[in-house]
Amino acid sequence: MAMGPAIEEGFYFDFDPGKHKISEADFPKIEREMEKIIKANLPIRRQEISLVQARKLFKDNPYKQEWLDEIEAKGEKPTVYWTGDEFVDLCAGPHVKSTGEIGPFKLLSIAGAYWRGDEKNKMLTRIYGTCFPTKKELDHYLWQLEEAKKRDHRRLGKELDLFTISEEVGPGLILWHPRLSIIRNEIENFWKKEHQKRGYQYVYSPHLGKKSLWEKSGHWQFYRDLMYSPMNIEGTEYLVKPMNCPFHLQIYKSKPRSYKELPIRYCELGTVYRYEPIGTLHGLTRVRGFTQDDAHIFCTPEQLEKEILEVLNLAIFMLQSFDFNDFQVDLSVRDPKNKEKYLGSDRIWKKAETALETALRKKQLKYHRAEGEAVFYGPKIDIKLVDSAGRTWQGPTIQVDFNFPEKFNLEYTGPDGKTHRPVMIHRTVLGSMERFVGTLIEHYAGAFPVWLSPIQTMVIPIAEKHNQYAQEIVKILKENNIRAESDERNETTSAKIRDAELQKIPYILVVGDREVRKKTVNVRARGEKVLGEMSVKAFLKKVTSDIAKRE
Ligand code: ZN
Repeated sequence: MAMGPAIEEGFYFDFDPGKHKISEADFPKIEREMEKIIKANLPIRRQEISLVQARKLFKDNPYKQEWLDEIEAKGEKPTVYWTGDEFVDLCAGPHVKSTGEIGPFKLLSIAGAYWRGDEKNKMLTRIYGTCFPTKKELDHYLWQLEEAKKRDHRRLGKELDLFTISEEVGPGLILWHPRLSIIRNEIENFWKKEHQKRGYQYVYSPHLGKKSLWEKSGHWQFYRDLMYSPMNIEGTEYLVKPMNCPFHLQIYKSKPRSYKELPIRYCELGTVYRYEPIGTLHGLTRVRGFTQDDAHIFCTPEQLEKEILEVLNLAIFMLQSFDFNDFQVDLSVRDPKNKEKYLGSDRIWKKAETALETALRKKQLKYHRAEGEAVFYGPKIDIKLVDSAGRTWQGPTIQVDFNFPEKFNLEYTGPDGKTHRPVMIHRTVLGSMERFVGTLIEHYAGAFPVWLSPIQTMVIPIAEKHNQYAQEIVKILKENNIRAESDERNETTSAKIRDAELQKIPYILVVGDREVRKKTVNVRARGEKVLGEMSVKAFLKKVTSDIAKRE
């Protein structure tokens, strides 16, 4: 036995199995032994012992000896835990008082793991497991694991022909296939319309800016680890942007501003690039290049609270439009012990934190205060989405910033004729297109609502002689802005229906002799619901209404 800690979602233990081979097939046998130990309700006893005693107790275990070396070097005292009288392990604890306290558990998986994570060391066998206070909680967790496998957006991305990450292009860089591009385009159009309604103005900005700009903004000082190396253009260094903010504030600065113009709300679907270590990259949800649904609001200090509330309203409206109805909210503030990691004075930080907190209270949102999670220029609200499988995902962020306006000397003329400093709000409501779409794929398990579905209707002719009628139907649907295709392959009708179902297409229209004669379609909705024969007009009305209602 090498070592085994508790982890976020359970525990693992690393074993050196010697000449034995352990596989998942052994799990029932091991679990039965574990059950016995729990049933016996053996007392668990902590004991402080001397290094000499510990060395002797674990004399046949080189891994424990290595731990003891470390304990010795640190000048600490080893502790061991006895389970009954037979079993003892080196551990800092704490533990339950007896094995009877251990709730329902399950061994989950097995993996190879180098001793202490170092590939120069021996490969050990790691067994993962989990344990919950009640059977109900354990079952829910196991269901979530199953769902996560079924919904994995990387797998669905292949099956539904959605995106590629190409070795030749590079890791963490997403290639959007036509189908996922349709989904993105629908989301972007919806996003732009909703922003226009709320007084946002759309802007575009470049992907590069002078290094000196990023030095002035503080990114080069505080954010450098996440930025890519400079490139030299005609003797001047440029950086690929990790954020859109410095560009938007230059648009603000392009002419003198009056209080009458405020608030000014610039929004952009702005593509940024940030360094993420290769090992942390994950499908669409952790990438190196991504498009933020970004906006920067410039307002007077008096307008700040109302603007934050409006952003919260917009964010929650947008998320509910994608069937997210459950949220977790964090208020991320400075680490009071590490103030040098942040820009700006205590007074400014206090003001910004208060504004965010007040808005959360007014909106009656429960939140958790996370110290040390703020960005370098200001505190923020982070909203996490809870998906249909009960998992949480990173969602909107709202940041209040008094620092950039000062650094870049942003001004407006007040009603008093004097110069004042505006406040800046940085915010995203979806986060990034990549991560949000990845989340959506898992949330809907690939079965997108009609308005987002890349193919909304598949027309299936029963025999070759019905192909022409199928094409006519597709033409009518397309003329009415419905994304439709006909499947004229030389396959059986049932095979074509099955394929359309596997592609999670919301509507399948089967057409044969009867439909051709009566100028109708036979409709199947996703989920094996047969809606039956309908006039083309009635079907059009139905699908158009689904799209309009975003159902
Ligand atoms: Zn920003």
